[in-house]
Amino acid sequence: MVSVAGMRQLTFEGPGRLEWAEVSEPILRGDGDALVRPIAVATCDLDAPIVRGETPFAGPLPLGHECVAEVIEVADQVADLRPGRLVSVPFQISCGSCERCRRGQTAHCEAVPSQSAYGLPPRGQDWGGFLSDVVRVPYAEHMLVALPDAVEPSAAASVSDNIVDAWRTVAPFLAEDPDAAVLVVGGGGPGSIGLYAAGIAIALGASRVTYVDADERRLAIATELGAETIEGLPAERLGPFGITVDASADPAGLALAIRSTGPDGVCTSVGIYFQNQVPLPLFEAYVTGIRFLTGRVHARPAIPAAIDLIASGRLHPELVTTRIAGWDEAPAALAEGEFVKLIFARVRTGADA
Ligand SMILES: [Zn+2]
Ligand SMILES: [Zn+2]
Repeated sequence: MVSVAGMRQLTFEGPGRLEWAEVSEPILRGDGDALVRPIAVATCDLDAPIVRGETPFAGPLPLGHECVAEVIEVADQVADLRPGRLVSVPFQISCGSCERCRRGQTAHCEAVPSQSAYGLPPRGQDWGGFLSDVVRVPYAEHMLVALPDAVEPSAAASVSDNIVDAWRTVAPFLAEDPDAAVLVVGGGGPGSIGLYAAGIAIALGASRVTYVDADERRLAIATELGAETIEGLPAERLGPFGITVDASADPAGLALAIRSTGPDGVCTSVGIYFQNQVPLPLFEAYVTGIRFLTGRVHARPAIPAAIDLIASGRLHPELVTTRIAGWDEAPAALAEGEFVKLIFARVRTGADA
């Protein structure tokens, strides 16, 4: 099929300026491609700072990199996906078969240029964003993960990025030590990742989950998820905790997470420190003996487990969602900025899966 149709794509043009751009609709290019139509798109915690001009990212940038989508067309070699199927779409492009991908390091896939992702610099212009009518997905059999019927698309929309970003901070380490107490220092941007981390730790049966934040609305969500809460950042160390998470994007929150990590514990920071230079309490970390992890999530490998946890009824991402808005409301709702997690939803068009 050759398509020359146009479509709408929500585009960040500059601070506070979002526009529906008319662009040409993507077409199938490779034998492993699929075309999908996003039906539930979630905000990433990075989207609000991008829209406000608080990141180094300049426009134009197509927005949206978390979604559940409907498969609308597949290329010849895509055997296991039919049009109408609902799928989670990882935000990063990965091939699934290079050496990095086979090790689960899909953020560093060797088959595509570095940092290839939807809706984010430096390659968002090439791949488009999910607030679009049609999105092309290469390596579709590897990339796309089918959504079970029991899972609401809006509940799973953030699995593409923020939910698996939270997953990697707690799940592998609770598997090593199921009795570990967990500390989450939340609050970076709109702050969904820290809340998901607390919710996932609780869903996985952590003995004790403590959530620290200065924001009353997020503290109330953390309580609803089943976490103990502490309001405001204490100056002294907490714990010690076997597993700590810095989702604050605040140097004081990062220092608190590192200092509160117990002997041979593990601290993961998902915060993005654009300022680059941040003081760390490394002497304390050395004396205690901790593992410290930071870096971009490897989204694709964690998606099936995250979806299973939602399908099992143990993880409730919808508790973190503060608004489900219509598709056409996207520019105004994003610019307004008053959300923890905003979902844009529209009806499915198509065939039954
Ligand atoms: Zn993101
Ligand atoms: Zn690869």
